[in-house]
Amino acid sequence: AIEVRDLRKSFDSGRIRALNGVNLEVDGGEFISIMGPSGSGKSTLLNMIGALDVPDSGTICVAGRDLSRERDLSRLRAEEIGFVFQLHNLIPNLTALENVEIPMFAVKHENMEERAMELLEYVDLADKAHRKPTELSGGERQRVAIARALANDPSIILADEPTGSLDSRTSQRVLRKLRELQEDEGVTLVVVTHEPDVAAMASRTIRILDGVIVDDGY
Ligand code: ATP
Ligand code: MG
Repeated sequence: AIEVRDLRKSFDSGRIRALNGVNLEVDGGEFISIMGPSGSGKSTLLNMIGALDVPDSGTICVAGRDLSRERDLSRLRAEEIGFVFQLHNLIPNLTALENVEIPMFAVKHENMEERAMELLEYVDLADKAHRKPTELSGGERQRVAIARALANDPSIILADEPTGSLDSRTSQRVLRKLRELQEDEGVTLVVVTHEPDVAAMASRTIRILDGVIVDDGY
């Protein structure tokens, strides 16, 4: 579950107020989408929930842990959270398999390579495990990014426009994988999107405008 209370964040010494008091509750196992115009604060909110950035004020609890009280945010991130970015952020000179293994180093699994291969099988890419990102299509790269997000069995997956650059068929395929995880494994799924079709797959759509939630979907 995720609980956000009165979250505020500004940039440029307060000149840009990206988040202006956001309140949000997401139940464990829920699939929500976040929509809103460019610059409304969607990525800023996702980055705070994922402990990639710290708020100016307000509280965030993720999987029952208050982020402001955690000593080791990178560890919490590795244990609880999987990220899928719009620009998948795969490391270009590593193979698909090696990219999936990266988050595992933070948690130290046994048989990392075997596990990474299982994850690639899950996203139907086992046959391309040894290819580099440049040798994969956009949709394949995005599926590698999903496999990587699953590396440490996260309880929460945060996806920032995971299908932004894909055609609608590939995008449906990527989204179906994410929804399958939510339905079968009870993963909490938060997806930022500009696409109404994608938003419609979620059980709730949050709308954000100028750093405040204007419709929380209930
Ligand atoms: P998009 O749909 O275009 O991705 P968004 O809703 O994700 O937009 P954010 O990235 O959250 O928007 O940005 C919210 C506001 O904060 C914008 O005005 C943006 O320019 C600003 N902003 C975001 N990150 C920074 C930063 N690191 N430094 C300065 N300003 C920032
Ligand atoms: Mg954004």
